Amino acid sequence: MSQSLFHSRPMRIAVIGAGPAGFYTAEELLKGPVEARVDLFDRLFAPYGLVRYGVAPDHPKTKLVTSRFDRVAGDERVRFLGGIEIGQDIRVEQLRTAYDAIVVTTGAETSRMLNIPGEDLPHCHHAIDFVSWYNGHPEYTDRRFDLSGDTAVIIGNGNVAIDLARILAKPTDTLAPTDIARHALDALGKSQVQNIIVLGRRGPAQASFTRAELMELQDLAWIDPAELDLNEESRVELDKDTQGQKIFTLFEGFPSIPPQGRNITFRWLRSPVEIIENGVRVALNTLHGDAGDQKVLGTEQREEIPCGLVLKSIGYFGQALPGLPFDENLGIIPNHEGRVEGHPGVYVAGWIKRGPSGLIGHNKRCAVDTVSAIWKDLEDLVHAETTKQRPLDLSGAISWADWQGIAEREAAQGFKVTRYP
Ligand SMILES: Cc1cc2nc3c(=O)[nH]c(=O)nc-3n(C[C@H](O)[C@H](O)[C@H](O)COP(=O)(O)OP(=O)(O)OC[C@H]3O[C@@H](n4cnc5c(N)ncnc54)[C@H](O)[C@@H]3O)c2cc1C
Repeated sequence: MSQSLFHSRPMRIAVIGAGPAGFYTAEELLKGPVEARVDLFDRLFAPYGLVRYGVAPDHPKTKLVTSRFDRVAGDERVRFLGGIEIGQDIRVEQLRTAYDAIVVTTGAETSRMLNIPGEDLPHCHHAIDFVSWYNGHPEYTDRRFDLSGDTAVIIGNGNVAIDLARILAKPTDTLAPTDIARHALDALGKSQVQNIIVLGRRGPAQASFTRAELMELQDLAWIDPAELDLNEESRVELDKDTQGQKIFTLFEGFPSIPPQGRNITFRWLRSPVEIIENGVRVALNTLHGDAGDQKVLGTEQREEIPCGLVLKSIGYFGQALPGLPFDENLGIIPNHEGRVEGHPGVYVAGWIKRGPSGLIGHNKRCAVDTVSAIWKDLEDLVHAETTKQRPLDLSGAISWADWQGIAEREAAQGFKVTRYP
């Protein structure tokens, strides 16, 4: 019945969040068995989500994916509606009166906590604060980071930690030609930070960096060889893990003494137990268990690392959308193959569906899977009634043409526009 209705009018779909998952979802919806009209909402004036506000400014090739997204937004069947926060400006229930299906692609916009004393001290920040600040996110332009100390500690062993370390360490003249926010470039230019220490709770054999990211640290990083001592189980793990071996070989290739100037080093088997004034206190860890199943065990041994800045890179975290269920532990909207539990006609894709991991391209597969669930449900979409045409007030929305104007201004001035208009 629903499908036949979509022969007399196009199917209307709201996609909430114009990040990679939102664009890939819209792209896929246009290829479906029925004629579709897609409204792509974003709470910010600018599209692209973390491609704009997460990916490091010195990775311009990664951002080229936006030209694919531009083609999607330029399709006459797609309407970009920036500056509208669903849950705040328009409620999900209101959307349900106007659309046949809703796909939530709101990503992960908050941070995990360490839950240790001192986390609220002024020199301790979430990675998201620093990343959003140097990327010109409009809500983070007024953040201040004390870069007057000689040491910064970064907690975490993923690629975001590497991004933070690299941005802190790179000479600012190499950052100047990028799209980094001007305020960040100015502040980094005056930075006194010389030593950047990246901490991991497990060992070098378990680090989750990728090779490409580590290779970029060639002239900046050094490692004390004692840090590369492995227990027998970790050696066995590496023997079976080609990627891990390549990473470990890169670690071994770094010099054992700091290079001149700003430098990055790694310390492993350490967990922060307290953020203290002018530093961080860590517990020394050991690994226990069989190869492939080793667990971190904290010891009573403590170490203090003096520093003026602590950045916690321990994971982004999803946020609830009023009117929909939320898994507080995983930071996702609970779903079965993209269908939001207990809410027929509402779907999820991207980080809010799977949790905050995976590269931009992983969201493509994720969006395709969700859209295929929509097509399977087409006959049952209870929203497919002509009464679902009540208009929403979208008069304040930033259109695609508005955004293109902003993008042109930005390109002309060479720095990210951080405010609209
Ligand atoms: C620091 C960092 C660096 C990264 N670097 C790389 C990299 O170099 N290469 C790579 O491949 N991947 C990288 N990634 C991963 C990549 O960015 C993610 O895989 C991808 O952005 C997730 O897409 P998403 O659409 O689910 O979420 P997001 O990109 O977060 O998009 C979500 C969108 O939803 C909007 N939104 C949120 N709430 C609402 C609401 N209530 N109403 C309306 N809109 C809303 C947000 O404004 C945002 O635009 C990086 C991630 C991070 C955090």
